Amino acid sequence: MAVSRREGYFLKPNSIVDMEKIVALCKRRGFIFQSSEIYGGLSSVWDYGPFGAELKRNVKNAWWKTVIHERDDVVGLDTGILMHPSTWKASGHIDTFNDLVVDCKKCKKRFRPDHLKGKCPSCGGTDFTEPRAFNLMLKTYLGPIENEEGLTYLRPETAQGIFVNFLNILDTTHRKLPFGVAQTGKSFRNEITPGNFTFRTREFEQMEIEYFTHPKDAEDCHKKWIEERFNWYLKLGLKKDKLRLRAHDKDELAHYSTACTDIEYEFPFGWSELEGIANRTDFDLKQHSQVSGRDLRFQDNITNEKFFPFVIEPSGGVDRATLAFLVDAYHEEQIQGANKEENTRVVLRLSKELAPVKIAVLPLLKKNADIVTLAKKIKQDLQKDFVTVYDDSAAIGKLYRRQDEVGTFYCITVDVQSLEDKQVTVRDRDTMKQERISVDRLREYLAKQFLT
Ligand code: ATP
Repeated sequence: MAVSRREGYFLKPNSIVDMEKIVALCKRRGFIFQSSEIYGGLSSVWDYGPFGAELKRNVKNAWWKTVIHERDDVVGLDTGILMHPSTWKASGHIDTFNDLVVDCKKCKKRFRPDHLKGKCPSCGGTDFTEPRAFNLMLKTYLGPIENEEGLTYLRPETAQGIFVNFLNILDTTHRKLPFGVAQTGKSFRNEITPGNFTFRTREFEQMEIEYFTHPKDAEDCHKKWIEERFNWYLKLGLKKDKLRLRAHDKDELAHYSTACTDIEYEFPFGWSELEGIANRTDFDLKQHSQVSGRDLRFQDNITNEKFFPFVIEPSGGVDRATLAFLVDAYHEEQIQGANKEENTRVVLRLSKELAPVKIAVLPLLKKNADIVTLAKKIKQDLQKDFVTVYDDSAAIGKLYRRQDEVGTFYCITVDVQSLEDKQVTVRDRDTMKQERISVDRLREYLAKQFLT
């Protein structure tokens, strides 16, 4: 018995999505869980489950491939979360990495005044304390005694790990300007109002590039990086009408930058920043030179010029990008089943590069030992080249739905007929079309699908 070739057809594609649906899918299918849930959860910290971990890793790998492997002028780096505390003095974070806060006098909750509209969002009170500065860095102590000597911070950005290694990179790679250094890693900010699921959290992951250039080329370079980074999100599947660029007004700029453009995505909660591309000038290298006493100028051996390069910084959030890819990929479709009942199919239309699982191998009858053996053998053969799962824990219709919900590209079903004709059914996630392919040709067939 071969699998029915007509599982159903589309009635109404429908992509209305709200955050409740995304949060529910993430929990149901093991993308994202609340941190420490068995203890009641830790506010605004999230854990990535099996499929979420794959997806997030794919986002970082796609970024690393594009900004390092597919270019000639950027190298990778992986620096510590803990750094010498002088780093944060030099970078300005100790003195200026502040948000303003006010406390509601009635319920004692704390808010950013720019997030208030006259009334306390929690209790409706209207009486607040005077705004005061609140430093966003998380403190920690190194060594056995908690005192000022051991005080340091969890990094609030990965960028500084790159600046303090500028000389090491120059010495070991003999780079000429312009060149960039890129890294991904965790950063921490004691955000006053975290929220919107993984969009704003206190622990998050960044993907940052510091691109060093001659000051006269900085403006041009800034423009190019804005375009490059915008196209990266498009290439990985975000819808064009959900993405936009927003240049910062002068009064929004950080103290170190002369220009910044954000790439924004239209989430269900509104247009919000995915990545900022800033012209950081020579601020950081100058500051670190001054505080460390080491000369961080670049020496041009042809012109003999010695100067501080300018820095263009494309700085994105891994969690925010992952959330945008999830939201954008989420689709609900009304389909008609074999006995004409309508039901909703939830499908994640993630790109081939990002889909956490590429192939699922499903036995049609799990009680038939020969089918199970063949299915497991196919899985073992394919998993060397593609992320492949095996599942026999439900009836085939349910197994398809589960795979659709995590964005698995192809489902391969092994049935009784497969044992005779050595062919299996390959089902396409998006069209739900099914094709019989001979087991011998499977690898070649799939390789072609994933390379085009
Ligand atoms: P926002 O204005 O949203 O607070 P920002 O402008 O302070 O962000 P940057 O300092 O430019 O953010 O950080 C670079 C990137 O790091 C952001 O574009 C975002 O993707 C990510 N990021 C920053 N803060 C957080 C956070 N609290 N949670 C998740 N991601 C974050």
